[in-house]
Amino acid sequence: MNPPVRVLYLAGSGRSGSTLVTTVLGQYDGVFAAGELRYLWQRGELENRPCGCGRPLRDCPLWREVRRDLPTDRAAAIAAGLRGRLRMRGLPALLRRHRRGRRPVPAHPDDAALTDLYAAVARHTGARVVVDSSKLPPYGALLGALPGIELRVLHLVRDPRATAFSWRRRRGLDGDTDPELMSRPPVWKAALLWLVWNTVTVRLWGGGAPESYLRVRYEDLTADPEATLRRIAGFAGVDADSGPFTGPATVRLVPTHSVAGNPSRHRTGPVPITADVQWRRDLSRWSYALVTGLTAPGLRRFGYPWRRGVPAPARPAGQPVEVWQSASAGQEEG
Ligand SMILES: [Zn+2]
Repeated sequence: MNPPVRVLYLAGSGRSGSTLVTTVLGQYDGVFAAGELRYLWQRGELENRPCGCGRPLRDCPLWREVRRDLPTDRAAAIAAGLRGRLRMRGLPALLRRHRRGRRPVPAHPDDAALTDLYAAVARHTGARVVVDSSKLPPYGALLGALPGIELRVLHLVRDPRATAFSWRRRRGLDGDTDPELMSRPPVWKAALLWLVWNTVTVRLWGGGAPESYLRVRYEDLTADPEATLRRIAGFAGVDADSGPFTGPATVRLVPTHSVAGNPSRHRTGPVPITADVQWRRDLSRWSYALVTGLTAPGLRRFGYPWRRGVPAPARPAGQPVEVWQSASAGQEEG
């Protein structure tokens, strides 16, 4: 039997910096930045959208090898099955099963294909750690129950006022020329999604061992990128000295082969990691108040201020050190 595949699963809400973290981690020795693997079947296999390297996924030499080991003729059924099993309305039952110590997402015949996917990725890339930035907590819960997968959860959290602002930006799914836009939920919906996904992430994994769960705020990440990535690398079990940093807040990126994620995954060369704080200036008072009201329980939990202009404490009392926030315009989403 093969050794289990270690999967670093980036969990939480969207627009919290997961694409940037995934791309940077993909530069470390022994790490493969797989991107949002839950979309492999739909956006990759069926829609043939671009791999991180820029080629349509089915033309990417790496994915061509991996796909040989997968039931690609069943991609449509697998994608539909995942959508059905991971629906929002299934959340209460999922959490109930988790509380009772049962498998949060019940077993399904397609699980064999998912197990094969991660094993094939590890085999063809030689990676010791596969980074999956799918974010959706139910998918992470599904993965964690699969045989052959050792799950480590990196929970990325960002100020919900920033994520709500970011969701409203118009952006092509694969860059500015892509006519298909990334989803743009209204601020109230972005706020509720933020609260739900971050709360569920804590419920599922927050009480676990420190080797299996790490929470990082985007604001802390962008305040001290190299040190924060060093910590994440240590958590993932990779050589922290093998990273792409050319300065405390600058990385040199080579292309990855990530599936889905925001368009910034295609960036290469020297890239500065800086906080994107445009929302502080441009988010309307009404939207700020609405998001603050709807996410109040989470603001307290993750150490964000209620009032505008009050800097977040670097380390919320009683919590592990992490958090990370913002990057320059091209990087702040995902
Ligand atoms: Zn590729």
